[in-house]
Amino acid sequence: MRTILTFFLTLFILINSSCFDQQINLLKADVCIIGAGSAGIGAALAASRSGADVILVEKENKVGGTSVQSYVNNWEPGPGCSYSYEIYHRLPPGTKGVAKQVHPYDKDEPYGLFLISPQLTYNHSLRRSDLDVKTETASVVFDVNEFDNTVRQMLEETGKCKLLLNTKFVNATVTNNEIKTIEAISSSGQKYQVSAKVFIDCTGGAFVCRNAGCETMLGEEPRSKFGEPSAPENPGNSLNAISLCYQIRPSKNPGISDTVNQLLLNYKVVAHVTGPVGPDQRLTVNPLGIIDGKCIIDQELDKLYENGKDLVDKHWAKLHTFPHFKDYEFDSYAPMLGIRESYRVVCRYVLTQNDLLDGFPNQKHKDIITLADHPMDLHGENSSLKTLKEAYGVPYRCLIPKGFDNLRTADLRKIKVNEFSY
Ligand SMILES: Cc1cc2nc3c(=O)[nH]c(=O)nc-3n(C[C@H](O)[C@H](O)[C@H](O)COP(=O)(O)OP(=O)(O)OC[C@H]3O[C@@H](n4cnc5c(N)ncnc54)[C@H](O)[C@@H]3O)c2cc1C
Repeated sequence: MRTILTFFLTLFILINSSCFDQQINLLKADVCIIGAGSAGIGAALAASRSGADVILVEKENKVGGTSVQSYVNNWEPGPGCSYSYEIYHRLPPGTKGVAKQVHPYDKDEPYGLFLISPQLTYNHSLRRSDLDVKTETASVVFDVNEFDNTVRQMLEETGKCKLLLNTKFVNATVTNNEIKTIEAISSSGQKYQVSAKVFIDCTGGAFVCRNAGCETMLGEEPRSKFGEPSAPENPGNSLNAISLCYQIRPSKNPGISDTVNQLLLNYKVVAHVTGPVGPDQRLTVNPLGIIDGKCIIDQELDKLYENGKDLVDKHWAKLHTFPHFKDYEFDSYAPMLGIRESYRVVCRYVLTQNDLLDGFPNQKHKDIITLADHPMDLHGENSSLKTLKEAYGVPYRCLIPKGFDNLRTADLRKIKVNEFSY
């Protein structure tokens, strides 16, 4: 009798524990946003403030995406929209500022240094078109940790946004060209299944759209496809390079040994340096393209990141030899790679170079929802940056993946034109 009881008890425990392992949290929302970078934050604030129940899924332990986790804590030009303005003004004093160039790139000292100036206000950062970058433009710089705190507070205040940090999107269930649910898993193994009326892919790499089967583009297209004057007849396969940004801080004891410096005298270095912000007055160093952009196609991001750290060590050892950086020491690597170019979702309308060349006054679209005036960033074999005469508009159709009704892409890189992005 006792044996039979023990058998059933053990069976009961086993069945229940395996159910427990498999337990999935079922969540429901009006809007489910995947990715809490700049795009995801904007989408979550807009939806939750207008009364929708929102679930925001983010794989990292902070909100802010590339702006925070990749240390691209530099809006250049500053976005004029109300959320960016609000975030900027809610950041505590000392954790933000507007910067201008104090050292231009030159052959002997190939870095641009952009320092916060008390004379500049947020409004100085809002325009980029038709300005001389050396003397007339300004950028917003902010402390990454304070940005995360401030935005989390803003999301919480809505009372409508459930934020799932450390939680990675893994799969979408699609029926009749509609996403029904998505699945996500937290770093501690907790599984979620989220159903929603609308899903917004803000992952920066179109992970949800690709998983759901949306059509995507990568790299250059031939001129014949969109009639863009700068597009090549025969496209190459290059992608804009990847960065691993890092931060440095003032130090009384900044020592990198002279031996290391000697070894690196011939190491070529370029950098875009901004700051200082935060309690320890950190500068952010963007080493520009140090990793081949094509690596995102077939290489593990974790391996690329480790490789990036080695390159950063060399980069800093060399940068440290220049006069502006002698009294600084290394602080930290950005927790995430800075990926400039990735998959672009084919939406109901694809913004092209022609839209940028037309400029807002000449564009005919009836559904323009936002304006941008960052220089035209030509990627590909002959990459270059061309300042625009005026701003251009982005139609709403650029956010709706072709063939999908309840899926949007609020991804800033995707809104940028075909072939052109930051
Ligand atoms: C080095 C560099 C310099 C730049 N310089 C400028 C500049 O000067 N001016 C400018 O305006 N722009 C610049 N940009 C571009 C700008 O940073 C990006 O366009 C912008 O940050 C993209 O925002 P996003 O929200 O679309 O994507 P991201 O900020 O990349 O956010 C995507 C979010 O999705 C999350 N995510 C990804 N996969 C998953 C998943 N499976 N599950 C859950 N979450 C996921 C990520 O962790 C991240 O938080 C630069 C970019 C780089 C890399």
